[in-house]
Amino acid sequence: MLRFAQHKLTAMGDEPEYLICLQCETPTYQFEYHNGKLAQVVCNTCGADDVSDFVTEAELEEQP
Ligand SMILES: [Zn+2]
Repeated sequence: MLRFAQHKLTAMGDEPEYLICLQCETPTYQFEYHNGKLAQVVCNTCGADDVSDFVTEAELEEQP
């Protein structure tokens, strides 16, 4: 009786490993994602905590 385990994969695979602060261009690992969107982040280097001041590595590469 073969049966595949029904693992429910969470849809949290889109979270980046780190975010980059646009103010000082320092990576930060202190952030929280909720429902696939950045909810909270803080930069320990310059103190920025506005989510619009942070981008993912992929987003940074898309910047002009
Ligand atoms: Zn910063």
